[in-house]
Amino acid sequence: MYPRIIINTDHIIHNSKMMVQKAKENHIDSIMAVVKVFAGHYDLINSLVETGIHQIGDSRIENLKLLTHIQLPKCLLRLPMISEVDDVVQYADISLNSEIKTIKALNQAAKKSNINHQIILMFDLGDLREGLYYSKPYIHIVENILDLSHIELLGIGANLTCYGGLVPNKKILNRLIHIKDVIESKFNLHLKIVSGGNSSTVTLFDQSEIPKAINHLRLGESILFGKETSYGTNIEGLHQDNFIFEAEIIECQTKPSLPDGDTSINSFGEKVQIEDKGAMKRAILAIGKQDVMLNYLKPIDTSISIIGGSSDHLILDVTGRDYDIGQIVQFRVDYPGLLLLMNSNYVKKIFK
Ligand SMILES: *Cc1c(COP(=O)(O)O)cnc(C)c1O
Repeated sequence: MYPRIIINTDHIIHNSKMMVQKAKENHIDSIMAVVKVFAGHYDLINSLVETGIHQIGDSRIENLKLLTHIQLPKCLLRLPMISEVDDVVQYADISLNSEIKTIKALNQAAKKSNINHQIILMFDLGDLREGLYYSKPYIHIVENILDLSHIELLGIGANLTCYGGLVPNKKILNRLIHIKDVIESKFNLHLKIVSGGNSSTVTLFDQSEIPKAINHLRLGESILFGKETSYGTNIEGLHQDNFIFEAEIIECQTKPSLPDGDTSINSFGEKVQIEDKGAMKRAILAIGKQDVMLNYLKPIDTSISIIGGSSDHLILDVTGRDYDIGQIVQFRVDYPGLLLLMNSNYVKKIFK
């Protein structure tokens, strides 16, 4: 059945083990595997448990609900909505937070269910997504957190290279270390986790650029695609091609390359620029923008190219090539493409 995505589980397990080992060599003894791209697929996520990782992280509570049997602490990565705190304390052992009002709501929910909830307090080191801005006051907030009966301040963390594209380096990570030192001495406590970012921090491995006090990373893309994400370079010893997407040709005919008559906008409200390449052999595949943005797909046969599509169709230029209906065309996908395909109910997921 097509369309389908084929996932190489063994390669991903290998990558996870390798990242745990490489992190250790860089004094980072704890890795959270970030699995948001797997939409809660239990077997695959469960297969990562034995690779030496310490927690599982996902940004949606709906996904964590599917993982209740996994024998590792689970972390909600996206800041909780106040409206979901009951679920958060039920299905996540840890959550990332930056708002005292939300943390108090989590405390109330945890108290009601008589459980302890752990939080990692997030600091924005300049990338401008979530977190308390590093140069602004935070002591009062920490004081408030420490007063709560059912919340444990497990540690602090930062997220980089997500919104602003801020690339990590020693200077930026030291902003987090400074905060750790201030909190620990002011309140005479030990922060168990200092979480120094995601796969973009992997760029700094083996360069003595990661402060020793960073002891934790949250890794998704590096485990799945074998790349660091500051510059997109391959990580030595890891597998890169772990996902192949396949779709079936439902029409294959030679037509002109220019629409015949006056043109306006396409079904997505866009004015498209179409180049006249003369007669063109065109293949239509049964996959569309409802399932994935088409520019996230890269044909493995580099002699063919995607020329466009609509919600349920993808059109390929296969001029001069031996394609016909019923045949399957294979693509590589990048991280955003995988995220969409895994979340499409119409795309079958094959684990091998
Ligand atoms: C998605 C996410 C990660 C993982 O990022 P990668 O670049 O895939 O390693 C880490 N932390 C948070 C808060 C995230 O949302």
